[in-house]
Amino acid sequence: MIELETPPKRTPPAPPASLEHRRLRDGAFWHALPHYAGIDEATFLDHHWQARNSVKTPEELFETISAVVDDAFIADARQGFEHAPMAVRVSPYLLASIDWSQPYTDPIRRQFIPLLSTARADHPRLTLDSLHEQEDSPVPGLIHRYADKALFLPLQTCPVYCRFCTRSYAIGPDTAGVDKLELGKTPDSWAPVFAYVAAHPEIEDIVISGGDAYQLAPKNITLIGEALLAIPHVRRMRFATKGLAVMPMKILTDQPWVDALVGVVDHGRAMGKEVVLHTHFNHPNEISAITERAMDVLFKRGVYVRNQTVLMRGVNDDAATMLLLVKRLEYINIHPYYVYMHDLVSGVEDLRTSVQTALDIEKAVRGATAGYNTPTFICDAPGGGGKRDVHSFEWYDRDTGVSVWTAPSVKPGKYFLYFDPLNTLTPTMQTRWSVPELQDRMIADALAHAGGTVAALA
Ligand code: SF4
Repeated sequence: MIELETPPKRTPPAPPASLEHRRLRDGAFWHALPHYAGIDEATFLDHHWQARNSVKTPEELFETISAVVDDAFIADARQGFEHAPMAVRVSPYLLASIDWSQPYTDPIRRQFIPLLSTARADHPRLTLDSLHEQEDSPVPGLIHRYADKALFLPLQTCPVYCRFCTRSYAIGPDTAGVDKLELGKTPDSWAPVFAYVAAHPEIEDIVISGGDAYQLAPKNITLIGEALLAIPHVRRMRFATKGLAVMPMKILTDQPWVDALVGVVDHGRAMGKEVVLHTHFNHPNEISAITERAMDVLFKRGVYVRNQTVLMRGVNDDAATMLLLVKRLEYINIHPYYVYMHDLVSGVEDLRTSVQTALDIEKAVRGATAGYNTPTFICDAPGGGGKRDVHSFEWYDRDTGVSVWTAPSVKPGKYFLYFDPLNTLTPTMQTRWSVPELQDRMIADALAHAGGTVAALA
């Protein structure tokens, strides 16, 4: 009897849409913005040119985009800046990545250029330093909250200023509404930080943030890296920069900066210590063929890169966009590490989402790619509870928008509250939040359901 061979099972070819993450914007895309129509590739890729031509005042911005937006948009943005907690700084790369045919809805515009017309009232329980970082700062420029980890803020400037910055209390120049807190920002002022870390043997892990490590001169990347590597108990370091998302060409044209970073990474590896880069992409449109080339340089030189995204309304708060971002990041060798709930930052309520949105998107993303490349969705518990998995709330009232969190390994016995944005609640509930006594009652009720009390609030 002849046995018939079962033909191998074939899966149908992947539909083209599933490969969308590989389609990266290429060519001279910046020519679409008339202000940059005469800029050749060598100039556009020059990081000095990008830094010099980043818009640093609203008027510079309006001049750059005047050919592609109308007067109503400019008036709207001018008033938006008057009320914004952050100063303006946007790179030509970002301005050229915005679809100016849709200026009101473009996800990159929403992150960097405020509009009065879309502004929403702050939640009444929102504060400027929502994470209470200054309470955990033993010396200026250092936050020591988790036993084995510290956050070093060596400078207060960034290559761009994001509307939603958690550290709007300190980052960038003063604005009409906010006098920025002064942090240490010169090599002399860093000495107490190194001394504190050296005197605390429990600290194994340092995040060097700010501000942004892109703004550190190469000699200071080396100075900071070597000073921390020389402390025996420091085992891990992360240089944090948004630069890859907003000015990727620096990796291609700033050889001294890349060499300084690689020097610290290589020295750390030789010592058995890990030094990596942490970056911050929020939307797939921030990734272009220039980013891919920059990542090729870092990957081939042995620099591991992780990404931290902020979940924002109208930017990445739908499953398809978040999935495309995750797939595009992993495609260019960036590890999609975290997606944060938007912190309770003043002046950007139009960008915040509810906890429920994070739960829904996490459910849609999980399983769509490898587990190690699936980001963990977290809420940085306001009041200093640290990062909590969004599923780990003790209680969540979707009607009042109050969620209650605990952090047993950070602040045992304490309770932390996160508030969904008012404008995602029903009109009745929004009215309740306008009455202070009712606010207190809604909070007390939520705490009671979670097994806590107002007295145990952090
Ligand atoms: S790059 Fe980071 S630190 Fe700088 S403004 Fe943006 S979010 Fe804040």
